[in-house]
Amino acid sequence: MAFTYRCRDYPGMEACPASFTAENADEVMKHVELHAREAHGEDPTQWSQEDRKQLQAMVVAS
Ligand SMILES: [Zn+2]
Repeated sequence: MAFTYRCRDYPGMEACPASFTAENADEVMKHVELHAREAHGEDPTQWSQEDRKQLQAMVVAS
């Protein structure tokens, strides 16, 4: 089983080609956090529980 997150699926990120696949959803989220910081200037420590839920809901089994 693998889990994948595609940045372009997030509202407003349609232009971003990045996607991340890992063996479990937790690892995918770590890649997403690093990517958000490096590519989008986000600060994941500022994400709310709702933000994280929305992201986690977009990590799909593949
Ligand atoms: Zn992105």
